[in-house]
Amino acid sequence: MEQYINLYKEFRQKIKAFEYAFWLMSWDQETEAPNASVDYRSKQFQVLATESYMLESDPKYIEAIEKLYENLDQLEDEDLKIEIKEANKGLRIVKKVPKDEWIEYQVLTQSGSHIWAQAKEKNDFDMYAPTLEKIVDFNKKLVKYLETPELKGYDILLDMFEEGFGVKEYDTFFNTVKEELVPFVLEVTSRPKQKFNRRLSKAVYPKDKQSEFSHYLMEVFSYDTNKGLLKESAHPFTSGVSSVDTRITTHFYENNLASAIFSTIHEMGHGIYEQQNDPKYDDTALHGGTSLGIHESQSRMYENMIGRSFAFWKTHYAKLVECFPKQLKDIPVEEFYQYINQAKRSLIRVEADELTYSLHVLVRYEIEKELINGKLKVKDLPRKWNQLMGQYVGKRPSTNKEGVLQDIHWSGGAIGYFPTYALGSAYAAQIYRSMNKEINVEKVIEENNIAAINAWSKEHIHKFAQTKTPKQILQIATQQDFTPKYYVEYLKEKFSN
Ligand SMILES: [Zn+2]
Repeated sequence: MEQYINLYKEFRQKIKAFEYAFWLMSWDQETEAPNASVDYRSKQFQVLATESYMLESDPKYIEAIEKLYENLDQLEDEDLKIEIKEANKGLRIVKKVPKDEWIEYQVLTQSGSHIWAQAKEKNDFDMYAPTLEKIVDFNKKLVKYLETPELKGYDILLDMFEEGFGVKEYDTFFNTVKEELVPFVLEVTSRPKQKFNRRLSKAVYPKDKQSEFSHYLMEVFSYDTNKGLLKESAHPFTSGVSSVDTRITTHFYENNLASAIFSTIHEMGHGIYEQQNDPKYDDTALHGGTSLGIHESQSRMYENMIGRSFAFWKTHYAKLVECFPKQLKDIPVEEFYQYINQAKRSLIRVEADELTYSLHVLVRYEIEKELINGKLKVKDLPRKWNQLMGQYVGKRPSTNKEGVLQDIHWSGGAIGYFPTYALGSAYAAQIYRSMNKEINVEKVIEENNIAAINAWSKEHIHKFAQTKTPKQILQIATQQDFTPKYYVEYLKEKFSN
């Protein structure tokens, strides 16, 4: 076995080095690279990508993985076992999907986002429909190729993004959302709207002051600037490559104070997760968050449950007023708190508030399920979308741009991804509740001691990197399987007032 372990590790080291180069190139592209560099960079990228593909499809590498997988019980290193299981799972595409079809699909999804962007711009669904049809058709074939006795159909796609979560688990979750949250949200959002000081939404908030406040937030949350940094990009994101290099971005809008604040906090939730991975995983394939859902649970907990809490603003509102003395003059913290926690019926998912967010995801989940099991055709998507939005969110879009064309995901082939967003919020509520049994969360927030929350999260979630599945993480952090109960309770309590 020794020879295969060494061979595997040799390949892994080279693959990691390529990944680092790709990571750095894409970070640079999203944040600082001048426009004119696009073609030059993509030329260099293609050369490296070809080399890297050769490495990953090298028969010697594949043989090493297969041999180690066949002899898993002989491996002493438990982490290596997990890594080999994952690597072997990754081989199923190479083994089961015809190469030509796979490459054709890669080309299709590469150009998909470009076609989608144009169609969205022009509000023209028919322009996008043929591409989306091909993507959906391929995914229907893909699930046939990859099906196992345990997993079939849409399950396969869901499990790719959140291991252990298929239709059965998600149906239980979304049925609770439908039964408990939909009527509650429709009731809350039909109440007369609260009036806020016009300056909150109309004043100008200069970028440099917003940036100062975001840097203040980095200190407050103990985001380690020795292992990360904050830049600006069109859409905020987190990009990590190891525990010693996890970077975040935000976006400043001068006419919107809340946007950058909550983007920065959200991305710090993602960033602190990866910074607190055990450094011993840096050189393995196990660094990073264990799943999209668990990752999102951290960002949403930091953003919504900490960042939008009254305890937080009781302590930090004074600093915000110091940055914007004129704009926030005579606006009490209570009003600011209400302002950042408004619940509204809205059309755009990425702008949706904490209360209505999961209903936007519910719409997408039901649509994806029917697309993959063949009950819904792509041409009928706009009609179905509008109908479900009316039913669950209480607002129907009048254009496809504000409806079915709003998200990039499907154009890149990401079917089964959306549900993890809603799941993340529900995980967050369950995790918060457990943490609160051991530390008084509101109290530490008020005492400006978020480091205590980071420390708890490190011990129960972050340090494990990808060595535990989402279900195992929930057991470790909450001693329970997943339940949407706490999520519903949390939202009902917060938004009843
Ligand atoms: Zn996120």
